[in-house]
Formats: sequence, C-alpha cells, structure tokens
Amino acid sequence: MVSIDEDRFEETFREYSAIGATEAGGLHRLTLSAADGEVRDRFVADLEELGLEVRIDELGNVFGRREGTDPDAEPVLIGSHLDSQPYGGRFDGQLGVLTALETLRAFEDASLEHRRPIEIVNWTNEEGSRFKPALMGSGTFVGEFDVEETLARTDADGVTVAEALAEIGYDGDEPCEPREEYHAFLELHVEQGPKLEEEGLSVGVVEGVYGMAWLEATIHGESDHAGPSPMHSRNDALVAAADVVAGVRRLSNRLADDVVTTVGELEVAPGSINVIPSEARFTIDVRSYDDDVVADLVAHAERELENACEREGTDYDLEEIWRIPHTEFSSMVVETALEAAADVGASHRAMVSGAGHDASYLNGLTETAMVFVPSVDGKTHNEAEHTEWADAVEGAKVYAETTERLAE
Ligand SMILES: [Zn+2]
Repeated sequence: MVSIDEDRFEETFREYSAIGATEAGGLHRLTLSAADGEVRDRFVADLEELGLEVRIDELGNVFGRREGTDPDAEPVLIGSHLDSQPYGGRFDGQLGVLTALETLRAFEDASLEHRRPIEIVNWTNEEGSRFKPALMGSGTFVGEFDVEETLARTDADGVTVAEALAEIGYDGDEPCEPREEYHAFLELHVEQGPKLEEEGLSVGVVEGVYGMAWLEATIHGESDHAGPSPMHSRNDALVAAADVVAGVRRLSNRLADDVVTTVGELEVAPGSINVIPSEARFTIDVRSYDDDVVADLVAHAERELENACEREGTDYDLEEIWRIPHTEFSSMVVETALEAAADVGASHRAMVSGAGHDASYLNGLTETAMVFVPSVDGKTHNEAEHTEWADAVEGAKVYAETTERLAE
C-alpha cells in the first residue's frame, strides 16, 4: 500500500488554488481563459517533472502517461477537470486532478511497479459556463460530440473554442479520441451535496448517476388591464404557472425517495405591473436514479400542467428538450474502490450522484466509477465551497489504493 504525502498534497492544492483565485477565497478560472492557460502550464510542468510522457489533443485535453511493466496492457485513466465556474470554488474538479497527481507522485516515491500503464488527464471545459455544452472535452473524446462542430462553438463574445485554445497554446495536435482501449477510468470529485457530511463519512464510492429529463413549458393566457378586469374572468398565464411550480415541487414527496424536481427558469410576458400575464415560459428539471420514475415524473408534470390550465382557462405547450437515462458505473471498479476504502480504513459508503460528471461520458467507453469526498453544507459552484482537508486526504488514500489495484 503506497502512502501519499499529505503536506505535499496540501501545498500543491494551495499553489494551484492561487491561480485564478478570487478575493473571497474561491476560484474564477473559466475554461481556456488566461488563468486556465496558467494552471495548465503548471500542470504540464508537474507531469514532466514526474517523467510522464505528455500529450495534448486538439480539444486541449492534457494527458500524462506513466508506463507499466507491460506496455501492451490497457491503461488505467485517472483525473478530472481544472476549469471552474464563474466565481466558483477551489475543490470542484481541481481536487480530482490533484488527487490523481498526488497518486502518481506517491507511486514514483515508492518506485511502485504496476503492470498497466496509467494515464492522468485534465478534461477541457467540464463546466460549460463559457462554452456550451458542459463535459465538452470528455464528451468529444468518447465520440459524443463532433470535433469540428465543437471547435467552432463560440462564447458570449463570439470567440471560438479553436481560437481560445490557440490563444493559450493548447491547440494540441493529437486527435481527440482514444488511441487504444482503456482498462478503467476513475475520477475523484467533491460530492456537491450533503449526504456524506450528514452521515459523518469521509468517502463515497459512486455506483451511478441519476437519470434526468428537461422540459420546457409555455402557458398561453390572455393579457388585460389589471384594474377593470374582474377576477373571475381572467386567464392568467402566471397564476397557472405558479400552480405548476408548486405541483412539481410536491411530486418529489409523492413518487420516490431519491426524486428531485426543479423549476429554474421563468419568463413572463408582457411583464408589466398593471397587465395580466398572457404568457409564462418555464423549465422543469426532474431526476431520479430510476428511469421509470423519471418517465412517471414527466407524465405527472404534464398532468399538473393540464389541471392548472383547465382551472385557469389557459392553454399550454410542453416540449421535452433533453432526457438522459441513469448511468450505472462499473461494478468491477466500484467493488475495487469499496475494498480499497475498507482496507485503508476510511469511513465510507456506496452512493449515487445527482449531478453529471466527465465520468458519466467515460462510462460509455470503459469501466468507470467515482470517489466522492464530502462538501461542507453541500455547497458548490460557489466561492464558499469547502471540503475538510482531512476528508480530502482520506479520499486520496482510497483513490491511490484503488488506482494501484486497477493497474496491477
Ligand atoms: Zn466538477
């Protein structure tokens, strides 16, 4: 069992966190920004110092390879992402990359020999806040997105991904695709929810990710003057929408324990203080680990819409804009991580994730699972995002041990 160097791990985390740091202790390191370029330079220098063979693909994904004793064996891939949300936290993504880096440093210290090659990766644009979609680097790598279309995507200023990559010198020449088959992918990430903290545990071994559906609803009513129009004759699109918002919220209690439902966008027209709203457009996000429950949620949401519109005398359109089935991670990798967690003595449990990660796409390519560490108060995408360092260390121990076993 190799041991990680806790001081070096923490010092490295502090140094990386200084690149793109915000005054409030967070991180503002949008993908392919100058700060992202700077942190990538540091990452590449650290990989080279470890003697890894570094390569950069045309989407800017950065790989470093440590050879195994059998160079023909399928490699184990480890890593996460170094980009952040606008005024985001220091732990989301970065902790996963630096845990993978500390794992390889610990292997080097111990002169550990492993049969399989190990590759560390920093995926480009996981966050999706500057360029859409999210999970861009990993999604393109697994063939979910077309390379040329992705490179042509623009940010709010009209800058393309290709231009932004060239600007920071990460327009690599390797094709963005696997060069060979991988044995496994393992990603460490902060939980971004409260479960581990509530249970006082340091580590979660992630068995899968919720399925979800995104709906867009538009309610059509009739605008009229807010003064002379009597209440009984109104067809108020916003009143109907308000019923649906509350109804969708209640669905989460009715159907299953793990259900989450959110209305996150609402636009009202014409949007005037003394005019009855004629139109309300809003989104509905429903998630569960059970795909049948997601289908039920969609049907129930439509019934809420139907009933609310009937009560208010309005019409509606409903469009399903996205549905993704739940992801079930590899039982081989999950079992390996659970055994590693038990053997290193970390307090842990198996769990599922409500949020998508690069690992969700990699799961379609190779045997994949994740290791979670707790998020204080469940906060994320926020400068206050925090993970107790003792938990990060426990996570790193489990991660290094799991990686060693996968690479045997
Ligand atoms: Zn992340």
